[in-house]
Amino acid sequence: MAAGFSALAGTFPGCLPSPEKTKTLKDQPLVLRFKPYELQLRHVFTLAGSSRTTTPDMLTELEWNGIVGYGEASLPPYLVETQESVSKFLAALDLGQFNNPLLIEDIMEYVNSIAPANHAAKASVDIALHDLAGKVLGQPWHRMWGLNPADTPLTSFTIGIDTPEVVKEKTREASDFKILKVKLGRGDDREMIESVRAVTDVPLCVDVNQGWHDRQQALELCHWLAGKGVVFVEQPMEKSLKDDIAWLTERSPLPILADEAVQTVEDVLPCYGVYSGINIKLMKCGGLRAAREMIALARALKMKVMIGCMTETSCAVSAAAQLSPLVDWADLDGNLLISNDVFDGVKVDEGKVVLPDRPGIGIVLS
Ligand code: MG
Repeated sequence: MAAGFSALAGTFPGCLPSPEKTKTLKDQPLVLRFKPYELQLRHVFTLAGSSRTTTPDMLTELEWNGIVGYGEASLPPYLVETQESVSKFLAALDLGQFNNPLLIEDIMEYVNSIAPANHAAKASVDIALHDLAGKVLGQPWHRMWGLNPADTPLTSFTIGIDTPEVVKEKTREASDFKILKVKLGRGDDREMIESVRAVTDVPLCVDVNQGWHDRQQALELCHWLAGKGVVFVEQPMEKSLKDDIAWLTERSPLPILADEAVQTVEDVLPCYGVYSGINIKLMKCGGLRAAREMIALARALKMKVMIGCMTETSCAVSAAAQLSPLVDWADLDGNLLISNDVFDGVKVDEGKVVLPDRPGIGIVLS
């Protein structure tokens, strides 16, 4: 294996490990570590269904030959996984049976075989494994996937549901962003949009979080929103209302994206003909490997693709950002919504995602 790394050295000076260093790599078992962490939110986070000030999280590390890859499971309470369920899943893994972190396909097939679902727990391993493998190879994943870092999209910044004065204040604070995501679905939608529009002219997208209940009213709102500079609508109605959502998508002047309706690659095909596109999140689908499968399938179906996140540290957000040159829209602000990030990674410059020129997923401990 070391000879293979040495043959690559020098292609990107300063980025690949030196031949001397790679010669020291030995067959060693992978070591997984994990610890619970609580993300502190900068603002109370209000969705159509709930409010909260913290998000439970699990930080993971995979070590091999003294090289450490970092991962994370973010566990917002509206999803079913908890720190307890993730701990139980991770404790059941025997990654020590693998002595080569580059065998990502084999390792993730094993991880997926342990139990169904547990997508955030699986993502925490997948992300750490990609980070570790990238560090071993000395390359960032966007480069290994052949993606142009100049093709990263603008990322939206989320404005949660609040009073008009707070919404205006949050919109002013978000002046660095060139597209904003406005949370709707609690009945004061027009007031929310008018409050944002009182402060900025940048394009908006809206996330209804299943908060609309009548398709005719939803269509009228889509037309009104189109006139207000909104570019797409995310999860307008309850995901079980497929016929109503398909009806809306067929008539809406704006693309209609699935979020709650799409978790894993198995959910993509059922969204075809119902939604215009899908919102992929690593915590929903199980990590980078699964997210790439979803992007490929959605593109084959000529569907729009967005990559989003939960409230997360820069670890999971930087991992998702590696894929961002492939998508139409990005909503990668989860790390900016917390006050106790433990990593430095992806940045936002003039609203655009900036990928760090670091190996793996591009993060260091901050
Ligand atoms: Mg959403």
